[in-house]
Order: sequence, then C-alpha cells, then structure tokens
Amino acid sequence: MRRINFTNTQVASSQTARGINRGVVLNLIRRRQPISRADLARVSGLQRSTVSLITEQLIRERWVVHGPIGRLPRGRRPTFLRLNDRRAILVADLRPAQTTVGVADVNGNFLSQETMPTTRDSRLTTEALAAKIRHLMTVHSDRVFEGVGISIPGRFSESSQRIVFAPNLGWPEFDFKGTIEQATGMRVELENAANACALAEVWFGHGEKVRDFVVVTVSEGIGTGVFANGQLIRGFNSMAGEFGHVPLDPNGPLCTCGGRGCWEVYASNRAALRYYHESIQSSDGLTFPDLLALADSGDPLAAKALDRMVHALGRGMRMLVSGFAPEEVVVVGELTRQWRRFGPAIQSELDVGLPGGHPPRVRPAEGTMARLRGTVALVLQKHFGPSAGLQELEAEDSRENQVMSS
Ligand SMILES: [Zn+2]
Repeated sequence: MRRINFTNTQVASSQTARGINRGVVLNLIRRRQPISRADLARVSGLQRSTVSLITEQLIRERWVVHGPIGRLPRGRRPTFLRLNDRRAILVADLRPAQTTVGVADVNGNFLSQETMPTTRDSRLTTEALAAKIRHLMTVHSDRVFEGVGISIPGRFSESSQRIVFAPNLGWPEFDFKGTIEQATGMRVELENAANACALAEVWFGHGEKVRDFVVVTVSEGIGTGVFANGQLIRGFNSMAGEFGHVPLDPNGPLCTCGGRGCWEVYASNRAALRYYHESIQSSDGLTFPDLLALADSGDPLAAKALDRMVHALGRGMRMLVSGFAPEEVVVVGELTRQWRRFGPAIQSELDVGLPGGHPPRVRPAEGTMARLRGTVALVLQKHFGPSAGLQELEAEDSRENQVMSS
C-alpha cells in the first residue's frame, strides 16, 4: 500500500490549494473524459460545489467543453465534460540526423507530422525548424496553440538558457530556444529526449501506475530518464541521467563526448553498426534500420552485431537497476521493432546476479511516438501541474485507505 502525504496540501495557501484542485480536476477530465460533474466530485473527493466552480472556470478559459449528454437510470441526463481539442501543441524531436516536427491536440493525438534533415549547421537547421513550425501554424490556423515542445539529444540549462551538453549533435553553444521563440512568437519548452519519454509514460502510458521506472533511449547515443518516488530526477544543472557517458573501459573506443569506452560506445545503434563494419569489408552507408532488416533476413553477421549491442545494453542497465531499483525499465528506439528477438536478451542480463534478486520488468515504450508525446506533456504540464497523473492516483489511494480503515 502506498503511503500518501497530504501535509503540503494542508498547509498550502488557499490560492495554492485552488491551483492544486484545478490541476486534479483538469487531469481527471483528461484521463476519464467524457465525465460528469458528479463523477468528478466522486472520484476526486472534492465537494460538488468546488467541482462546479472549477469546471465553470475551465469552461470560461476554454480548456474544457461540454461533451455528449449522458443517460442514467431514473431519467437524469448529466452533461459530460471533455477537453477542448481545438487547443493544440507544436512539437519537435531534434535528433542528430533528422528532426520530426508536428502538431498534436491536448489529448496527444497527432494532426500532422513532417521530417527535415538536421545538419551540423546549427543556425540553418534552427531557422529551417522555425520555418516549419510557422508553416504548421498556418496549416492548422483553426487551432489555438499553447506553445512549442522540443525534445533534444542533450541537456538544457534553465540558468543559462542554453543547450549545455549534446555531444551527438555537435553544435556550438548558441541561443536555440530564443531563436525559435522569436521566429514563432510561441513559448518554447526544451527537454532531454529520455526525460521527455519518461513524461510520455506518465501522461499517456501506464507510467502513472508506476512510481519508479527508468527510460533508456537507444539511438545514436544512449539517454536515460529516471523517474523515482513519482518524480523525474533532474539533478544539478539538469544533468542527471548521463549514464550513456559513464566510462566502462578507459582504453575503449573514442566517444563523441571526448571520453573513451563510454556505455553508449558499446550499446548504441552506432555501436551495432561499428561491430558490423568490423566484421565485413563493404558496408558503407548502412543505417541501423538496414542492419535490423539484414538480421531479419537471416544475415548471421548482422545478427551477431546486434546481439553484441543488446547484451552490452542489458549489462549497462545494471548500473541503473542497482542504483535506482526501478520496477520497470522502458526501452525506446528502433531496436524495439524486433522486441521478441532483443527483449529476452536484455532481460537475461538483468535476471542474473542482481543484488536483492528482484529484476525489473524490461519492456518497449508504448507506441512509437514516445519522444513527441513527451513534448506534448512538457507544454501541457505548465497548465495541468507537474505531477499530473500522480495527483489523481494519490486521491484514489487516499479514498482506498479510507474505505479500508472504515
Ligand atoms: Zn561519452
């Protein structure tokens, strides 16, 4: 049974309490829509009058609209409420070779998506990205945009407002966020890709039921997002989670960060390609999806290269599992397309010799859009509150406890 602490809520000023209640109601509508006011009161534990005040305000602010008319026994016909899906978010997933740009509504449904090349020319790429965003705003001019969310292969420092660590991008330091904000007139939120995936799990996946999990993004490099005790761990200067750059062998191959033998040098998509290149003469221009296809068609050297990569991935995950004792490890990346082949190999590395003997469940992320969905959550959490899914869960737990103790 989870222990719930409502101390903070009790000592909060009435204004803070109103803000918390608003977040609880908004998130309940988001997760259970369409929902009646009576059910909102029942599920949230809030007074009917409080729920009415909050929902009226949310309707005035156009976050919430009236949905279908319900049917209940004895002739009552409550009005259901749902989120206003005219409100939308502009999203981008900046990756070292390709950037995906799109539009999603407040429910995380994607209305459109486009890709563009990411180049080493930071200015040109940023201008092209801003132009794509402006174009999408014109195409979807019937929507009200809440902001821009961008997942990055690195770290963004709130204090300096700069991307501070993104070795696989190879860009010089410049005002990426400010450039996009000026060009689009929208507020921009940046988040590390693995952290964005962790947010996506909490907001749109089953993550809201799990308070301790780790997301491992496997692409050009390796990123980790740590969700512990129901919170995303950011650390000093937002640098927490750089396990991909923990050196496992000081004499190992050179890494993009300047170090040697980092975990990602052995367990990323690039590592698998390097293993394959080492075993065969002519494999220039081969991409990771190509390698997956080769292995799938029975190429033993491709299969061997991928096998080496996923076992290195599983072995490195022991650092995370020993450090944080997660209930789940969620994997994001192209390798999850062949999960039946790779999942058991990764799990096998965690099932042996872990202290305590309780290996976590390793599973692929739900859907293929984890990074982009995370950026939707990144923008929405400004309005819905940071621990969106968890507030609801805590309210439910508290009532469970009351029922059990009564
Ligand atoms: Zn490194």
